Amino acid sequence: MQQNEIKTTCSYCGVGCGIIVKKDINNNITVEGDKEHPVNRGMLCSKGMNLHYVAKDTSDRLLYPQMRWSRSHPYDRVSWDSALNRAAGVFKSLINKYGPDSVGFYVSGQCLTEEYYIANKLTKGFLGTNNIDTNSRLCMSSAVVGYKKTFGEDSVPISYEDIELADCFFITGANPAYCHPILFRRLEMHKENNPDVKIIVVDPRKTDTANFADLHLQIIPGTDIVLNNAIGRRLIERKKIDKNFIKNHTEDFEKYKKHVQSTSLKNAADICGITVDEIKKAASMIGNATGFISMWTMGLNQSAIGTYKNFSLINLSLITGQIGKPGSGPFSLTGQPNAMGGREVGGMANLLAVHKDLLNEKDRNDVAEFWNVDKISPNPGLTATEMFDALESGKMKAIWIICTNPMVSMPNSHRIEKALKNAKFVVVQDISKNADTVDYADLVLPAAAWLEKEGTMTNSERRISYLPKAIEAPGEARPDVEILCDFANRMDFNGFNYNSTSEIYQEYCAMTKGSNIDISHLNYSRLKNEGTFQWPVPSSGHKGTPRLFEDKKFYTPSQKAIFNIPATTKNTSEHPNLEFPLILTTGRIRDQWHTMTKTGKVSRLKTHYSSPVLEINNADAYVNKIKDGDVVEVRSANGVVRVRAKLTNNVRLGVVFLPMHWGKQLQSDLNRANNLTNTLIDPISKEPDFKYTRVSVSKY
Ligand code: SF4
Repeated sequence: MQQNEIKTTCSYCGVGCGIIVKKDINNNITVEGDKEHPVNRGMLCSKGMNLHYVAKDTSDRLLYPQMRWSRSHPYDRVSWDSALNRAAGVFKSLINKYGPDSVGFYVSGQCLTEEYYIANKLTKGFLGTNNIDTNSRLCMSSAVVGYKKTFGEDSVPISYEDIELADCFFITGANPAYCHPILFRRLEMHKENNPDVKIIVVDPRKTDTANFADLHLQIIPGTDIVLNNAIGRRLIERKKIDKNFIKNHTEDFEKYKKHVQSTSLKNAADICGITVDEIKKAASMIGNATGFISMWTMGLNQSAIGTYKNFSLINLSLITGQIGKPGSGPFSLTGQPNAMGGREVGGMANLLAVHKDLLNEKDRNDVAEFWNVDKISPNPGLTATEMFDALESGKMKAIWIICTNPMVSMPNSHRIEKALKNAKFVVVQDISKNADTVDYADLVLPAAAWLEKEGTMTNSERRISYLPKAIEAPGEARPDVEILCDFANRMDFNGFNYNSTSEIYQEYCAMTKGSNIDISHLNYSRLKNEGTFQWPVPSSGHKGTPRLFEDKKFYTPSQKAIFNIPATTKNTSEHPNLEFPLILTTGRIRDQWHTMTKTGKVSRLKTHYSSPVLEINNADAYVNKIKDGDVVEVRSANGVVRVRAKLTNNVRLGVVFLPMHWGKQLQSDLNRANNLTNTLIDPISKEPDFKYTRVSVSKY
């Protein structure tokens, strides 16, 4: 490692690839993959390898605080003192008048762990409300419930190194070829080296991931539980289950058996829109595997029945005893770089730090004592979509949005717009003036970006990385954590006078002592000198924990894993009707990230897709008199999108697909997929139903 080289981690997806940033004598930076990094071994995807363009181009950056006194006034440039004094003044007055639940924070899976920790301490410990939620609510909250109910805690059991040890993969509701490219590259190499490895992909679309599969189950959207149960039934019938594991290490198998036996394979196949043979083939591949890994993302989680879908999937690992041993286990792939770190520090409205439970009085008291505050409110906070509902209804008055762009990313954009317009006070803390939500702020705070601040992140496999500061932030932009501590001090709260980010991290690490995510022996010095660690790291010489549950002891009271039974197998989304006969599903494309405030700046990342297109099945296009390349109007009960059509048989009959990235980049909000999406959420995980909105499509 040379002096002008800095090791850090990619700021995009949850794979968490290691990056080496090189600086020349003029401080120009370039990036390359870190060959010594255990995750990517030198590889980077298109997004990662172009990160230096994003870091160098500051033309879109917010450079100083801006404020407007009313919505009819223009923004004025103000000092940090004026900006944060106003924020503190407004928050104090709203809390005095309407109570602490009248304010809230909406943060991001891209925040560093220290930022997440301080935002939570500030909100839950000092402002006196649990109204802090994160855009990870849109991403992983159904998986979090799945893990908690099955294992007793939100614990991803396995590691990427298990990929090379497995011989069967069940990839469902995920397109890692686009969304987790380096992880997928490892899977491709494993299959190339071991052709007998079996890959099953479940997706209504024939994605690049599905093209690589031995078996593609192109199911009707929303039928995942029926499919997973049918596979479970077949495994039981063929005695391809681990009776020993079930008997000694699980609870409620008999309930599960009865549940899956209630639907025949023939019925299941009809409901899912596939054949009985395909179900049998999938069960045979899973049942004959030595190491079986399931991988999933938004196709399962972003659903009105996302929690139940997670139950039905994780149950397949339990009946086969494929957990806590090499090359096996359920593996949710987080979308954002630090969604996992946020969960660790309690970055959701219903969580407390260190996997403690907000509904448990002792846990609340423990956290209050640690932070030296009287109490933590027992009222569950509002979740992401609930906060915007509360702003729209007037129940909540102020929101502070950090590092996320809800005007593009939240379901039903027009409702989000109404909510922000109705709020009495909106703070937007971001790096880019191109984030659409900035336009709705009363106070705009410029934040430091990747490479401009230090902190830590945890990737999908529980791997904690240290990210050093490598370059100066432009203008007056400041690290998010510094802004939050400054605000807390202006609110007259004790407990936010840190001398460094390292001190904040040490405070959080100390809080984990004795827990199942114990990293009390970790610090910046170890992370800098020894590299990344997978939690828990419970002693000073400990090297981290690649795999959980190897002793088959789970975190439930009985130490057994629980079979959870979905209360329904039916999709509770709004189904197609005569007015809206097609199902819209949304997702990512290969070279763009979230709402494009970063990747949208890099011209070479626009060569794959320069604008959004609607994928529509050839037969649906024929019926609707649409030709390839036609501009089409997509309508739902909530809004309209106008884009070009791409005719393909890769998307199932009756289903259309739109990418979720575009906001106002093309000078119109008619490219925004979330104009259309419905407002349903999973009643347990509170995750939105992005993957199933009924729409109509016609030539424009
Ligand atoms: Fe970054 Fe994810 Fe690509 Fe790795 S796979 S380079 S973490 S975007």
